[in-house]
Amino acid sequence: MGKKMQAAVVHDFSKPLSVEEVDLPDPLANQASVKIETSGLCHTDIHAAHGDWPIKPKLPLIPGHEGVGIVESLGKNVRSGIKEGDRVAIPWLGYACGYCEYCTSGWETLCEDQLNTGYAIDGTFAEYANAYADQVVKIPKGVDSMEAAPLICAGVTTYKAVKVAGTRPSDLVAVFGIGGLGHLALQYAKIAGASVVAVDLFEEKLSLAKELGADYTVNARTQDPVEEIKKLGGADQAICVAVAPQAFEQAYHSLRRGGKVVFVALPKDNDVRLPIFETVLNGVSVLGSIVGTRVDLKEVFELHAAGKTRVVHEKRHLHDVNEALKEVEEGKAKARLVFEM
Ligand code: NAD
Ligand code: ZN
Ligand code: ZN
Repeated sequence: MGKKMQAAVVHDFSKPLSVEEVDLPDPLANQASVKIETSGLCHTDIHAAHGDWPIKPKLPLIPGHEGVGIVESLGKNVRSGIKEGDRVAIPWLGYACGYCEYCTSGWETLCEDQLNTGYAIDGTFAEYANAYADQVVKIPKGVDSMEAAPLICAGVTTYKAVKVAGTRPSDLVAVFGIGGLGHLALQYAKIAGASVVAVDLFEEKLSLAKELGADYTVNARTQDPVEEIKKLGGADQAICVAVAPQAFEQAYHSLRRGGKVVFVALPKDNDVRLPIFETVLNGVSVLGSIVGTRVDLKEVFELHAAGKTRVVHEKRHLHDVNEALKEVEEGKAKARLVFEM
């Protein structure tokens, strides 16, 4: 017998979410039933609610994939070390097969059979969520639940992007977009020892970037980021977490020879124009990076527990979910908004 719970639900890509009472099914044999404490609002949830991407989410959908909660019960066949009472993270990678060449080589984020939380399966904008136990990650005591939430997607994704970029201490890293992801991307680049140039359209975001350790800032509304970053010698790596194709092109053109651009944001408008000749002659790499693994997330929590990262967040109530989406879309939210259940 399932129970009832409050959840924010997408019924139609062109309508606001509705906060309503829904049935919570019993967890499957390999799932944990988790009572949600907090859930971050990722821009991906907005793309999901609007049906922005080539692959559409299920409907009706409960979005949310930065879930923090307490395990209340377990299915019969849970083999991971998760126990009732554990405080766990529910990430975007909701399920992976566990057997394919990606799953067995530490790249389960590329599993072709994966199911994504708050997209293919119901997510964490709710009082409860059923999560496949193999993919949940225990949250260490030193990490508070409001701060844990943004680390579960924004944190792990940008930590992984910096790993994929191969950032070294002498590098200049450009971070395009200082939102939920970007405010953490710049901190991981600093932890890797790099100098950082932060690019955004809003002065408040750039002053936050400065506070968090950015060495340089560029306002892409009033300055040409390519020109400004070239003045600094060009970026060794540019990480694009801005929801605009133009920023991807600027990130690419801001590179020095041998540089790497890492595509992370997923704007609705899916195309960019990049030159072949310069890519070849300049030995430039264009990389895509998708979230991070359980091990990456464990490392992200360790860094935070050790006091090495700062999560900038503001609390919201799930009843105000539509206003919260609007704030993020308009660039008015300060880094991450987190729902407290
Ligand atoms: P956000 O809205 O919090 O942040 C986006 C930031 O980009 C904002 O600060 C905004 O002002 C800035 N921006 C917008 N246009 C810009 C431009 N032209 N130049 C510079 N800055 C600009 O969003 P978020 O939650 O950080 O997510 C960012 C993107 O990353 C989304 O598209 C999301 O779907 C995607 N995402 C990808 C992954 C992945 O694994 N690859 C994981 C999570 C999120
Ligand atoms: Zn697999
Ligand atoms: Zn996300």
